[in-house]
Amino acid sequence: MNDPLASVQTQPTSALESFEARAWAAVSPTAPLAPLVVRRRSPRPTDVVLDVLYCGVCHSDVHQVRDEWHQTLPTTYPCVPGHEIVGRVVQAGRDVRRFREGDLAAVGCLVDSCRTCASCRDGLEQFCEGPATFTYNSNDPHLGGVTYGGYSERIVVDEAFALRLSNALDPAGAAPLLCAGITTYSPLRHWNVRAGQKVGVVGLGGLGHMGVKFASALGARVVVLTTSAGKAEDAIRLGATDVCVTTRATEMEKHAGSFDFLLNTVSAPLDLAQYLALLKRDGTMTLVGAPESPQPIVAMHLIGGRRRLTGSLIGGIAETQEMLDFCAENGITADVEVIAMPSVNEAYERMLRGNVKYRFVIDMASLR
Ligand code: NAP
Ligand code: ZN
Ligand code: ZN
Repeated sequence: MNDPLASVQTQPTSALESFEARAWAAVSPTAPLAPLVVRRRSPRPTDVVLDVLYCGVCHSDVHQVRDEWHQTLPTTYPCVPGHEIVGRVVQAGRDVRRFREGDLAAVGCLVDSCRTCASCRDGLEQFCEGPATFTYNSNDPHLGGVTYGGYSERIVVDEAFALRLSNALDPAGAAPLLCAGITTYSPLRHWNVRAGQKVGVVGLGGLGHMGVKFASALGARVVVLTTSAGKAEDAIRLGATDVCVTTRATEMEKHAGSFDFLLNTVSAPLDLAQYLALLKRDGTMTLVGAPESPQPIVAMHLIGGRRRLTGSLIGGIAETQEMLDFCAENGITADVEVIAMPSVNEAYERMLRGNVKYRFVIDMASLR
């Protein structure tokens, strides 16, 4: 591995004390991820310091590192991605109540919020008007510059934004729960997906495979809608009862007007009309996939059948804890391929080719 200490300088630090942590970062939209030393704040009384054990690789990391969301969420470089973090508490501030040194802890997409606005009071910190401080590429209120994510040996977080993780779950398989898990669990719960319903999960990737596990655990009959016929066997193993290959018109026609709920996890623009046509009257399609380019909507596709098209963003801290507890009770983790840090650039390319079953997770021991 390259010497991280030889890498480029990061942001200047404020007067607040800080320490160095090894990380991997991109320095431009076209640069591969490479070693970089970043600064983390010295823990305050309510902070925990985590040794990162595992960090999942989310498709959002690729969008953000490559500045694909330039118009809505531009990237500040260097960018250290990673928001599916499982770690071990190595230091706890004097006022920390919920964690002790040696505990497992997890961090997802959020590391702080204003805690006073209407969304924060409702436990929906992801919609904080403050705005929320996301785990990476958000303004860092402590050190200045931007926050740095979990592709790093250590992270410092206020205990209010750290999640408790059962020792019963495999920590590598649990890491993707912190984004792929909560992003699929939250809309399924919000739209009250339940036994007796027919639910479609569009796209069988990191989010999609968690969507299948959750929707079937909630009792729904799940159909996977995929462009990859080769994923059919996995879809059934993950909990689906049926698979629809979306490039085959006859298979799509078979499901017309039949779904109560569709969870669309696709990372690229789609012809949404094709999917709206699959909903029943009063059915709902929720978009969680976040391609940057527009996807046109024809009003008639919503008007006919009074269908709903909605979106959903990760989940709040309380719901993330609820989801982790649900996973511990039901033995749910992600299906992961564990990689060493230097393989991350190749992992991005494989994810873009749909060649991942179903989430890459970086073993951060490879960074130490
Ligand atoms: P992923 O593992 O790459 O999965 C995406 C899946 O979409 C692929 O496996 C593929 O499934 C399908 N797909 C990809 N390109 C396609 C195309 N051109 N046409 C049709 N289907 C295509 O990605 P992920 O990590 O699950 O993330 C998915 C999306 O959700 C990303 O845009 C990500 O940024 C976004 N996201 C949103 C939130 C949120 O809070 N809303 C949170 C996390 C991630 P098949 O092979 O089965 O077709
Ligand atoms: Zn994510
Ligand atoms: Zn707020």
